[in-house]
Amino acid sequence: MKSQAQQYKISNVQADQKKLFVYWADGHRSTFHYIWLRDNCYCSMCGDPRHGEKHFQIIDAPVDLEPLAVDWDNDRKLEISWKPDGHRSIYNAQWLRQHCYSSQEREHRQHHPILWDSQTLISPPQVTYEAVKAEDLGRLQLLKHLKDYGICFVRNLPPETATLESFSQSFGPLLETNYGRVFEIVVDRKSSQRSIANSAKNLIPHTDDAYQSAPPGIIFFHCLMANNDGGGQSTFVDGFQIAEVLRQEDPEAFELLCRYEVSFQKHYQARIDMRFSSPVFCLDSDDNLKQVRISNLFPAPLDLPEAVVESFYAASRKLMQLYTDPKYCLKQGLQPGDLVMFDNHRILHGRTAIGSNNQRRHLRYCSVDRDYFQSRQNLMEKEHDFY
Ligand SMILES: [Zn+2]
Repeated sequence: MKSQAQQYKISNVQADQKKLFVYWADGHRSTFHYIWLRDNCYCSMCGDPRHGEKHFQIIDAPVDLEPLAVDWDNDRKLEISWKPDGHRSIYNAQWLRQHCYSSQEREHRQHHPILWDSQTLISPPQVTYEAVKAEDLGRLQLLKHLKDYGICFVRNLPPETATLESFSQSFGPLLETNYGRVFEIVVDRKSSQRSIANSAKNLIPHTDDAYQSAPPGIIFFHCLMANNDGGGQSTFVDGFQIAEVLRQEDPEAFELLCRYEVSFQKHYQARIDMRFSSPVFCLDSDDNLKQVRISNLFPAPLDLPEAVVESFYAASRKLMQLYTDPKYCLKQGLQPGDLVMFDNHRILHGRTAIGSNNQRRHLRYCSVDRDYFQSRQNLMEKEHDFY
């Protein structure tokens, strides 16, 4: 195994007209373009790395940017002075290696989510409330599950009303939604039908609020009361898993769902008229999945070029066959005190039908801002050197 020290030691540097090759003691070679290096100078004139701020702008650099001199000192830093004004940039070797953009290093930095279905997931990712409350490690385990699986169950919370707010707020600010900050999902024979979540019918797996430009990031359900007749079980589907299955089995269908937009809408009395269109699958520039948006609960009429409509419906049919297939569905009967939190940009959720007995089911629902959640996760991982 290569030692960390070797990885961060510069052994040689070579320059050509547009870029610099940095050779490392562990044998790796990085290529850094001059424009990238100049752009990432964080001297006090060019920026402030503590706040991620930058003062230097690339239009201020000459198009044919070249170094006057390149030096590396003590294996640990690289120094460049630039033509024409002699501006001096110093790069820490470890920082350079950590930002090397060779395909090997970019792949190495990529987080690979653990894709799952009902067969591969031997037991649902879970932690106890005691562990999360008691120490950072419990909370880190929870965050790791969320990052890897997109979902984590938390057991043994007090089945009391205020618990959801205090627990979820420790991960970021609660989002204001159409339903307020916390939504009471109460199903009994007398419940109002204001939301489909309050009805007793089967709910097909979906991601929430697909009709919004930025659907809620992390969703929480806390169970206060459950019926024991086997109905009303929560269902979860790994949207990344079904996307990858579709990509494998029918690349053309996958391509259509990445390229063309589906339309969603939500109307509620005279207060709400939300509409948004987006592809079902959003990919990053390396074709990794970034976001899944699936909701057959609030569709708007498809609005696509005539020539695409038939093939798009065929692709949508295949997709629906996947996310309604029990093979991909994790079923969990939430018990009082159980909480589940999941990534609404990856995980679909639904519910089996609720029986017609008199028992009540009471879940409380809220969501936390995705960026603040991510920020807390980043800080915690940094503090504990977790990844
Ligand atoms: Zn500078």
